[in-house]
Amino acid sequence: MPQYKAPLRDMQFAIRELFDFNETRKLKHYAEVTDELVDMVLSEMAKFCETELFPLNQPGDKEGCHFESGKVRAPKGFKEAFKKAVEAGWINPFAEAEHGGQGLPLAITAPYNEMLTASNLSFQTYFLGNAVYHALSMHANDAIKAKYLPNLATGVWAGTMNLTEPQCGTDLGLTRCKAELQPDGTYALTGTKIFITSGEHDFADNIIHMVLARTPDAPPGVKGISLFVVPKLIINADGSVGDANGVNCEAIEHKMGIKGSCTCVMGFDKARGELVGELNKGLSHMFTMMNEARLLVGIQGLGLSDIAYQNALAYARERLQGRSLTGPKYPEKPADPLMVHADIRRMLLTAKALSEGGRMLASWIARELDFSLHADNPETKQASDDLVQLLTPVVKAFITDCAQECTSVSLQVLGGYGYIQDYGLEQYVRDARITPIYEGTNGVQSLDLIGRKLSMGSGRLLPRFFGPVGEFIEANTGDAALKEFVEPLSNAVNTLMNATGTIMTKAPKNPDEAGAAATDYMAIFGYTAYAYLFARAAKLSLEKLKSGDDLFYRSKVETARFFMTKLLPRVQSFSATLEAGAAPVMGIKDEAFGPFG
Ligand SMILES: Cc1cc2nc3c(=O)[nH]c(=O)nc-3n(C[C@H](O)[C@H](O)[C@H](O)COP(=O)(O)OP(=O)(O)OC[C@H]3O[C@@H](n4cnc5c(N)ncnc54)[C@H](O)[C@@H]3O)c2cc1C
Repeated sequence: MPQYKAPLRDMQFAIRELFDFNETRKLKHYAEVTDELVDMVLSEMAKFCETELFPLNQPGDKEGCHFESGKVRAPKGFKEAFKKAVEAGWINPFAEAEHGGQGLPLAITAPYNEMLTASNLSFQTYFLGNAVYHALSMHANDAIKAKYLPNLATGVWAGTMNLTEPQCGTDLGLTRCKAELQPDGTYALTGTKIFITSGEHDFADNIIHMVLARTPDAPPGVKGISLFVVPKLIINADGSVGDANGVNCEAIEHKMGIKGSCTCVMGFDKARGELVGELNKGLSHMFTMMNEARLLVGIQGLGLSDIAYQNALAYARERLQGRSLTGPKYPEKPADPLMVHADIRRMLLTAKALSEGGRMLASWIARELDFSLHADNPETKQASDDLVQLLTPVVKAFITDCAQECTSVSLQVLGGYGYIQDYGLEQYVRDARITPIYEGTNGVQSLDLIGRKLSMGSGRLLPRFFGPVGEFIEANTGDAALKEFVEPLSNAVNTLMNATGTIMTKAPKNPDEAGAAATDYMAIFGYTAYAYLFARAAKLSLEKLKSGDDLFYRSKVETARFFMTKLLPRVQSFSATLEAGAAPVMGIKDEAFGPFG
């Protein structure tokens, strides 16, 4: 049977020690948020995830969702658990108090979402109302806000995002869904959206769909897309829920993983909707939701990496196979546990290091989100926003790419028992596989990093990353105890700078150079970011160890050492393939791909 224990100690290390939470508390908006409150929220959340959500994860995967006469029924227990989450205030504790939320800092979203997704990713996908809440807060007029925000904040209503259509995936310029202005100022939406997460269910009193559509006279392409809010049930003038709107779930998908999450085909038939924000600016408004969802998907990868690691570790400690190469470690037993084997330790440490690296990166960006929204000083606000913009594709793509490796090596630790269903590992591998696909594929995230983020604000974003990293290297280069961390970090930074230079030089002459380099560049960026965070973590832990041994800090230093010596050298290989350029990829004629009979 799989197990889950929320890694609260490491979460606290990330949000409180690595990124000093006292700084967040200095923001007026969060002046009242005490350490005790943060601890209480996280430990109560951990209890909820471990005892309510995790037990539903494996049965939910086996049972899947049901579709009967346009209605979706989630796996047994999901609806009741959602009700408990609403009652406990767990749906959106980050929503403002005026709407019924708790106004908690976004810094806590990283551990909050990690616990939710690790314990039950399918269940967590029903929480999209949070991103709807945020998008409406940012872009809707006051009347729409008053109508929707309170019930979204508390989870009484759920939400969805509707972008994808059969002919329109990555290329949203191909959107066909139609929105026609009505005499009363509302719009009638008609069209089909596919792959819509939690498009239909009976957890909430209403489902609020955020829909991209185009008006009849809109310009072609992405410049003609607008954003509409379309409720499943019409909302009456007094705020109560009324008749059915023209929105129907036509089918649900049968898929590889996250089987407890319903993925719906949604039909809109003259459904009544209201325009959100400006006409034809829908894509940029939707980006608020998409960016939030991208961070969330990165954290989904982190949650699955961690739970896979936890279960592989527990198994490796119990399973007896073979003897240590240096002689029996447990001669009284018929064989040594798997833990003694170097190859098993390599796999466990890979999953451990990549999970902890992901946790630090997610905590960093979550912290910057608070500053980007609530800092008094406009420069601080801008700097944090820049960093969030730059790192969002990295969090989404790099952490979820790492999740493929973490779940796969964790399964490998169990051998055949990983491949069968009993231990849960095969589910984590299947569930993790969606994370590089939805919310913009990882290939597209890499193009975003290289194509948009490097040049955004006349190249202002990249120095937001290189700045603090360079300062750290400079401040610690002379420290002999830190040499083993700072030197490899410094080498990785040089590799990243060279890769940036190569792209900047080649891409303006041939855009395919950027396309061919994007995935390699993403990997170099991701590993370098983890190296910076591990170097900082090692410094902090070595300081703590001066006042006495502590297993947690020792483990942190040793994991940082493993990362620097066994994983970070991968950047050299990515650099070599990046430098090889576009020719080996684009030089081959389409016919030469075969088949050759
Ligand atoms: C389980 C699940 C849940 C989902 N939930 C939602 C949801 O709630 N709401 C929603 O709107 N959508 C949702 N989606 C859709 C998801 O976001 C899309 O699948 C994704 O954006 C990719 O689109 P596509 O599948 O059409 O692939 P395509 O766009 O056809 O892409 C296929 C491949 O081509 C690559 N590619 C495409 N264009 C380019 C390019 N210009 N340059 C380089 N490479 C390119 C992609 O990276 C990908 O590898 C969901 C999908 C799934 C499977």
